[in-house]
Amino acid sequence: MTVRVAEAHAAEEILRVTNAAYQVEKFFIDTGRLDRQRLGELLWKGVFLVTDGMDGCLQHPSGFTLSLMIPAGLKQRVHDLLGPRGYLDRPQDLALYEYDGGVDKHAPDLVAFPRSTAEVAALVKLAQEFGVPFVGRGAGTGLSGGAIPREGGLMIAFARMNRILELDLENERAVVQPGVVNLDITLAVEGSGYFFAPDPSSQRACTIGGNVAENAGGPHTLAYGVTTNHVLGLELVLPDGTVVETGGKASDLPGYDLTGLLTGSEGTMVLVTKVIVRLMRKPETVKTILAIYESNEDAGRTVAEITARAITPVAVEMLDGVMLRMVEEATHAGYPMDAAAVLLIELEGIREAVEEQVEQVRQACTVSGAREFRVARTAGERDLLWKGRKNAFGAVGRVSPTYYVQDGVVPRTQIAPTLHFIGEVALKYGLTISNIFHAGDGNMHPIILFDARKPGDMAKARAAGAEILTWCIDAGGSITGEHGVGMEKSELMAKMFPPETLEAILKLKMLFDPNARLNPGKVLPTGRGCLEIRQAPLSAGSAVY
Ligand SMILES: Cc1cc2nc3c(=O)[nH]c(=O)nc-3n(C[C@H](O)[C@H](O)[C@H](O)COP(=O)(O)OP(=O)(O)OC[C@H]3O[C@@H](n4cnc5c(N)ncnc54)[C@H](O)[C@@H]3O)c2cc1C
Repeated sequence: MTVRVAEAHAAEEILRVTNAAYQVEKFFIDTGRLDRQRLGELLWKGVFLVTDGMDGCLQHPSGFTLSLMIPAGLKQRVHDLLGPRGYLDRPQDLALYEYDGGVDKHAPDLVAFPRSTAEVAALVKLAQEFGVPFVGRGAGTGLSGGAIPREGGLMIAFARMNRILELDLENERAVVQPGVVNLDITLAVEGSGYFFAPDPSSQRACTIGGNVAENAGGPHTLAYGVTTNHVLGLELVLPDGTVVETGGKASDLPGYDLTGLLTGSEGTMVLVTKVIVRLMRKPETVKTILAIYESNEDAGRTVAEITARAITPVAVEMLDGVMLRMVEEATHAGYPMDAAAVLLIELEGIREAVEEQVEQVRQACTVSGAREFRVARTAGERDLLWKGRKNAFGAVGRVSPTYYVQDGVVPRTQIAPTLHFIGEVALKYGLTISNIFHAGDGNMHPIILFDARKPGDMAKARAAGAEILTWCIDAGGSITGEHGVGMEKSELMAKMFPPETLEAILKLKMLFDPNARLNPGKVLPTGRGCLEIRQAPLSAGSAVY
């Protein structure tokens, strides 16, 4: 339940409505005359301040807010279900779950760690019984605020459901729990000559549950497709607690493709408790190429040149000059420090075919103005180049205190003009914007460097991001290629789709989640911006005012 606190003495009221679920000390501090040391001590003990003028929450002076969403009865039932080590509810612990890889924040009121599907179903039923919102969480690497509990409430974290249940190499299938880390599937089978194709750059940390929810992509999805192309079946918990299975190990099953519908539903329609994935055989030969350029536009044009020759590399990644320098300083992977851009191109297949394609790609790069064309000579060289690419965000983190990753998509032919436009936006806002992206898919990731501690910088970064994504829509593209809409881009959905389409999406969501308790405030415009379609309100009693 959320309490509107208008007066300091409302602490009395809070104690009454929460059944003292939280420790609320009855005192009033004039925030203008705080003894910071005393305040620090109180906060460390988990004491929150009730401040005048706060809407619906107790406020931590650091900016952290605690909405009183978990009734004492619910907490007791979670305790009975999972035991004392099965959940977290201390403010200092909850603070670790208030963010993901994006820029938005909101803390949950309780984080539960189920170990089985039955426990997930029981938690969901409890959330419904007590009328609180709930959200699933994998590793929290999402880049659109998908796992942020926008309205507080119960977070169901899948960290303890992290077992590979079955490896069926003969049929090229694996059955895994949602908390399994993406790379761990490949590590489990690579000795037998197999791999799991979807390879987000975050694959050392992100989970399959999160990949399914976001329909994650990665450098190699240019040829292999995204997560949905590798998920054959799901076990799900519906928002009323019912457990359902979709798909299976076989390739084509009758009926509606619920597995396809729910892969990419961004954790807003169901919770995933088991995933059947496709395994692939490793190719005979892999060649990794580094093409180096004096201009961004030349690198952009190369992508169209390669595809015009009817070659589909398994990966075509682009890094611009700013990114190259950050990556090289952090990883010493062998990237040139003085270039304007590079393309990292990978070809796979039968030896003879790959060797022929390397020559065709060489021509495409040369025609487009590449100054240098290198083919990695050893597996070690190849791994180093990929290490640089996949650790790029970490490299940015060494240089800038905060960054904002965009995920726009444009037709391949629009890459060069889009890079030019991004340069103009950077100048307009006085911000550094660096580019690293899946060029083969036209999936651009401009990274806006800013300092969230500087007043106005966050607003500038958001405005710059919105301008870039609006350009992508106008260029015939999209506001997201793989990171999802989440809470970050929900208002932009009204620029992307007509009201009838948004209405249809809403109807689908409500079919699964009629009380709008699962991950509220995501994907569709909330009406907090200027848009017309709003998500259905939470039921009375659980709404944030
Ligand atoms: C450095 C870095 C690089 C990245 N590179 C890529 C990339 O190349 N390609 C790409 O696609 N993404 C990339 N991402 C984004 C992110 O890693 C992916 O979106 C990933 O799929 C999120 O997985 P997660 O386990 O961290 O999910 P979380 O962030 O925890 O959650 C993401 C969404 O999934 C939902 N969810 C989680 N588990 C479940 C479940 N069991 N059932 C239902 N819903 C669930 C959450 O509610 C949320 O809506 C990158 C992120 C970082 C930080």
